[in-house]
Amino acid sequence: MLKKLLLAIAMAGSALAGAQDPEIALTPEEREYLRRIPAIKMCVDPDWTPFEHIDKQGRHVGIAADLVQRVAQRVGLRIDLYPTKTWEESVAASKVGHCHILSFLNQTPSREEWLSFTDPIFYDQNIIITREEHPYIGDIRGLKDERVALPGGTMVEERIRRDFPNLVIVTTGSESEAVSLVSERKAELTVRSLIVAAYAIKKEGLFNLKIAGQIPEYSNKLRIGVRKEEPLLRSILDKGVQTITPQDREAIANRHVSVQVYSNFDTTLLWQVGAVALVVIALVLYWNRKLQAINREFERLSITDRLTGLYNRLRLDTVLEAEVQRSSRFGQPFSVILLDIDHFKAVNDEYGHHTGDDVLIEVARILQTHTRETDVVGRWGGEEFLVVCPHTHREGARTLAENLRSKMQERDIPTVGHKTASFGVAAYEAKDHAKDVVARADTALYEAKRNGRNRVEAG
Ligand code: GH3
Ligand code: MG
Ligand code: MG
Repeated sequence: MLKKLLLAIAMAGSALAGAQDPEIALTPEEREYLRRIPAIKMCVDPDWTPFEHIDKQGRHVGIAADLVQRVAQRVGLRIDLYPTKTWEESVAASKVGHCHILSFLNQTPSREEWLSFTDPIFYDQNIIITREEHPYIGDIRGLKDERVALPGGTMVEERIRRDFPNLVIVTTGSESEAVSLVSERKAELTVRSLIVAAYAIKKEGLFNLKIAGQIPEYSNKLRIGVRKEEPLLRSILDKGVQTITPQDREAIANRHVSVQVYSNFDTTLLWQVGAVALVVIALVLYWNRKLQAINREFERLSITDRLTGLYNRLRLDTVLEAEVQRSSRFGQPFSVILLDIDHFKAVNDEYGHHTGDDVLIEVARILQTHTRETDVVGRWGGEEFLVVCPHTHREGARTLAENLRSKMQERDIPTVGHKTASFGVAAYEAKDHAKDVVARADTALYEAKRNGRNRVEAG
């Protein structure tokens, strides 16, 4: 029945997945390629948030990561990350064939030397970013010797170098550095993707920057770059790319950016309110944690015996109740051992209460040391202890009790020497309540006392 249900769920699941993943018509050669090469390597830009980056766990994340993995899933290909430290390193790795594809890049003449490209998988504008005081840039050709900060090895760098000899290019090692240089007056402008720039400005809090213009012919058409000697791989990926709808792109992009428009709104007040809110949240969190710790300590104290650190009667009752429930429902055995120290009153009388307490602590330690992890040891009261043994028949419990008895007898306890105890064993029987099992153990314990102490009796 359960199997059928699971099968039905699985089928419904695959039907749904099918609805999401349109059928892709692959040629026999492409199918053969996928059989031969089920997994390929991908190089990425490790620092191009929110398009893509490699996170602290070494995972490829961002808009490109989601898009490429969706394509991979649709064509039935596994794409593994070939990690690098910089974009330049990724380009170099791609050139020598360490990776089959570059995840997300513009098509340029220099890249065509070793790459072929899929259709665009994502579109984004490039915009000019300057500082607040810079005039609007109608035509970038009108600028004279202004410094433009651009990350090395990017399409924009390649094209600006070619198209705008009127500008001085300052090459940077990363996206955020390009934007920062403008903010810090080490360059007058940069040309960046709208999505990336909006993200960087927001993240770095560079509110002295503004969008000062556009280079329309410089829109980003981001594609998967495939090494030229893999034409089948390119055509397979292309078929996957073609299934990506504008809605898919929109949903994925929204997951990674929330572009906010900053106007003349006074951000100082916003920061102040934010800072106060943060302090309040931190305090609330701190107190919550403290309260949780205090509550945990309360709970621990309420279920442990102060002297021995064992579970107390309250907790033993809960454990017994749970065992009875489990045994009655699943027919599992469980047993209990009730033990009482022999002539304990004499210890108190002879050496005093403190020594008596030390003996109780020592007995608790013996019981804990020589029982299993799954057994529960507690102090039933006074000098009586209870061991609850899940999944244990009467004979198993009797063996354990016998072992504990001899361990007790052997132990040379400081001041008082060897002390013994008497043991009563009982096993759960159908329809028992918790108190019934313990009552039988108590009767057996009484028998053990009557039969001369330092003995085990089973009820
Ligand atoms: P039996 O072999 O018949 O069990 O003899 P007994 O002396 O052990 O039995 P009895 O019930 O007469 O005495 C139990 C004594 O345990 C009495 C009580 O003062 C002592 N006791 C109970 N709880 C504690 C405790 O927490 N600390 C100390 N030091 N003594 C305790
Ligand atoms: Mg007693
Ligand atoms: Mg006793």
